[in-house]
Amino acid sequence: MITVSHLSKTYHNADGSSLTVLKDINCEIQRGEVISIIGPSGTGKSTFLRALNLLDPPTGGSIIVDGEDILVNANANAIAKLRQKMGMVFQSFNLFEHMTVLENVMYAPVKIRKESKEQAREEALALLKKVGLVEKADVYPSSLSGGQKQRVAIARALAMHPEAILFDEPTSALDPTMVGEVLSVIRQLAKSGLTMLIVTHEMRFARDVSTRIFFMNEGIIYEDGTPEQIFDHPVHSATKAFVNRIQKLVFEIDSDDFDYLQIHTGINQFCLKYNLTQGEHAYALIKEVLFTHMLTIRPLTLRMTHAELSGVTAVDFMVENMDHSPLSDAARASLRPQVKDLIEEPTTRGFRVKLII
Ligand code: ADP
Ligand code: MG
Repeated sequence: MITVSHLSKTYHNADGSSLTVLKDINCEIQRGEVISIIGPSGTGKSTFLRALNLLDPPTGGSIIVDGEDILVNANANAIAKLRQKMGMVFQSFNLFEHMTVLENVMYAPVKIRKESKEQAREEALALLKKVGLVEKADVYPSSLSGGQKQRVAIARALAMHPEAILFDEPTSALDPTMVGEVLSVIRQLAKSGLTMLIVTHEMRFARDVSTRIFFMNEGIIYEDGTPEQIFDHPVHSATKAFVNRIQKLVFEIDSDDFDYLQIHTGINQFCLKYNLTQGEHAYALIKEVLFTHMLTIRPLTLRMTHAELSGVTAVDFMVENMDHSPLSDAARASLRPQVKDLIEEPTTRGFRVKLII
């Protein structure tokens, strides 16, 4: 369906400097594929999607869609036709604020596809039903939550009967509590056979929903494979490091007058960011360990970690220059029932107690 060859994009800045964002992108996308594009920020993922949609024309290479090179003769008419084929959903929704939800979804079908208002309305209502928002048809976007806005944006993209939809970090602007509702709509679309390219940081979602993963790094598709290949058996070390990355929150506890409110706030923010429900549990355990089981052990380093792909969350207590566990049998007996696993292990510089929660 889409063949991309030697695609490149160089931005020329006003001060005469230039930045090559896409170096040499090559890929083939078959109809019905669901491809997640992952990779560090600033590596050209958005630029690539925008190039496919001609929102930001590339500076070299070719993009063949259904046998036609879309970079040749890209006049206004051809661009409009292409965008009809390839819908796009942005991080920031981009709804028309002065139109109701229903009007947002009906607008392009009437204006561009020349559908009758009646037909467009009927279809729009069916699509709103599909994304679970038919009861919001007559309200304005300003009264919707972020998750609801993004579901309207998806309905609006679908209203054009696209052959493919490009999603650029569709959940990145959302409050963590709303990520799930948007991902579940995208999941449902993935099953329907629609071709989709999804730039996302949601590793577990990407793994579940995709037929293929592109790992983009340094302006190229660094590694391309099935979810199993990319997540379980990556070939390149950069891919491996990226998919296995662990988020960390670290506190140094030097004395007993440390700021435990700061720890509490830090843990809450960390949990909100990664959509974890264990915040209060983690904090209760930390308090118990710091004030009961390790009261005399100072300084120590407290660390909360979350591995995005495996979903493992842990709280570590690390002590330097100690060759045995600081936990007593009573401490162990108290902690064990409260955690998934309790690991006590020497490290190169001391000893670590790890609570998997
Ligand atoms: P990603 O989506 O992977 O985070 P982007 O495609 O947004 O990366 O951006 C890649 C690089 O291109 C970044 O360094 C960004 O600053 C640069 N860039 C993006 N858009 C422009 C632009 N319009 N002009 C100049 N540089 C840009
Ligand atoms: Mg981006």
